[in-house]
Amino acid sequence: MATIPWLVDVLRSAGVQVVVEGDWLNRMRPGSFDPIGVLWHHTASTSSATNPHPALNICINGRPDLAGPLCQALVDYHGVFHVISAGRCNHAGVSGGSGPIPAGDGNTLMIGWEIDYNGVDQEMTAAQYNASIAATAAVLTRLGKDASYARGHRETSTTGKIDPSFIDLNVMRSDVAAKMAGGTAWSSIVDNSTAGRFTASANWGVSSYSGQRYGADYRYADPVAVSDPAWYRFNVPAAGNYRVDAWWPANSGYNSAAPYIIATASGNRTVTVDQRATGGQWRTLGTFALPAGDTNRVAVSRWSSAAGLVIADAVRLTRV
Ligand SMILES: [Zn+2]
Repeated sequence: MATIPWLVDVLRSAGVQVVVEGDWLNRMRPGSFDPIGVLWHHTASTSSATNPHPALNICINGRPDLAGPLCQALVDYHGVFHVISAGRCNHAGVSGGSGPIPAGDGNTLMIGWEIDYNGVDQEMTAAQYNASIAATAAVLTRLGKDASYARGHRETSTTGKIDPSFIDLNVMRSDVAAKMAGGTAWSSIVDNSTAGRFTASANWGVSSYSGQRYGADYRYADPVAVSDPAWYRFNVPAAGNYRVDAWWPANSGYNSAAPYIIATASGNRTVTVDQRATGGQWRTLGTFALPAGDTNRVAVSRWSSAAGLVIADAVRLTRV
């Protein structure tokens, strides 16, 4: 049986924070292991800053109906990888086939990350997302596979698994691909806390209420029919097509039609999003032709006729 004793070194070399959980090199299930891809999961446990890895013990030791270890690594609330096993684990069950991953024994075919969030009313944290992208890119590079070899359990499962919940797996794979391209695809993130690149009037409050926030906090304002946008300034390196992604924390009290304004090469374009749902992840607003230059490029406007707080958290541009 093959093992992946290189896992810890590969993760650390990619800048991923690693905690080695005991005798990981010898903790595994009997049976075959010859991985060609990575499988993403959520644990269904509720994590928090003060309880960052509630499912760690179960992932190491298993549960009455399923022997451990249950994954090669658990990704905690802060994005720290807890490496549990260098060999076969009970995480995937039978693969029904997805993308380039064939039908067969999922525990032979794939390395599993259990991302510790509950998936019902809690989504992946920004730290979990970013660490999972970096780790997946590094492992697929080591395996000699492209980003299509990263799948979600809900894509390979033959028993109706729903994990990892909420996340757009195609966006996640495209982020892995960009990471593997080694920076050839220009990408830049402006958060509400990014110095010199975010401006908003004092009418926009500061909050850290939602665990789905990007970074330490985000801004919020009541909807009102005046021009009082929060602006994100980007230094676009060259004229071209750029994908614009936005990240907001979702809440039932937030705005159902929050307008994002993109200042394109041919004038302003507006895209409205429902900030009551699909929070805690990058959501694509579209791909737009942008001119070069360092200027205010994307805004969140308060000018919404819908009820609920308008949220301004993070925006990302990626050249495509
Ligand atoms: Zn799963």
